[in-house]
Amino acid sequence: MKLTEIYSSGKTRFSLEVFPPKENKNKENDLLSTLRELERFRPALVSVTYGAGGSSREKSAGLVKRINNEAKLTPMPHFTCVCSNTQFIESYLKELEREGVENILALKGDPPKGFNDEEAFSHADELVAFIKDKTNLSIAVAGYPECHKDAKDFDSDIYFLKKKIDCGACAIFTQLFFDNKKFFAYLEKVKKANINVPVIPGILPVKNIAQLQKMTIMCGASIPLDMLHKYERFEDNSEDSIKLGIEIAIKQIEELIDNGANGIHLYTLNQRRMTYEILQHFN
Ligand code: FAD
Repeated sequence: MKLTEIYSSGKTRFSLEVFPPKENKNKENDLLSTLRELERFRPALVSVTYGAGGSSREKSAGLVKRINNEAKLTPMPHFTCVCSNTQFIESYLKELEREGVENILALKGDPPKGFNDEEAFSHADELVAFIKDKTNLSIAVAGYPECHKDAKDFDSDIYFLKKKIDCGACAIFTQLFFDNKKFFAYLEKVKKANINVPVIPGILPVKNIAQLQKMTIMCGASIPLDMLHKYERFEDNSEDSIKLGIEIAIKQIEELIDNGANGIHLYTLNQRRMTYEILQHFN
């Protein structure tokens, strides 16, 4: 099912982000059985990350195919254009289409350290235009409720977000954030810029304080102080810490749904328990 159809139902749809396990085939099999188990909650789609520079190319594509064929869920591969040429991009995307994939999350990606080859596109808007021209894929793009780290300022970040939509994207999946006020302020900016596609908030259920701090450094999301203090009370990965993570994510999602979110994108980090309990709560 294509993105436009998924988000036109008027109901809040959950989507799940997973990554291709590095270690071995058993981990991938475990992930597949988790996804089959989660099928009962009818997630709108499962997005699969892609290592910028193509490091996870085969693993990402392999997992996307298995999600489509074995888990019977709608996959949305991520694709990053750094370190890629147009010939490769076109053949990779056409291969996905032949496998029955209908949606894609089109990203620039962050070039791996030391990378200095020529690349096909300098920003994601050019990739979106290329995908639109060469395929029938429905295209989503990334948005940043707390502004992208390399943006000149917030206004220019929104300006380039609009460019991605004008080039043919039909949905925005956001970077994770913990403070809903920042998301609501972002939605205002998006609306003011005349961007009229679904903006799907990205939520990370946090297992422990170390993970909270790590993800915040990686993604630039600010942590509300009271949230930080709550995690400080518990040992890493203790039952209390995990329950706290589930409770905080549920509260955050409830407020987003009450305010009309058409979707919730869960950054699952391939964690079964937290994902399961959150989906069960909203089932
Ligand atoms: P762009 O939209 O190109 O924006 C990058 C920066 O350039 C921004 O500051 C923007 O304001 C500016 N800009 C945009 N267009 C122009 C232009 N035409 N001229 C000048 N400046 C411009 N990374 C991965 O490696 N793999 C993944 O699987 C992955 N999945 C992600 C999923 C989500 C939901 C999100 C939010 C991010 C994900 N990322 C992933 C991270 C992403 O690749 C990085 O944040 C990257 O730095 C930016 O990608 P982008 O597509 O947003 O870039």
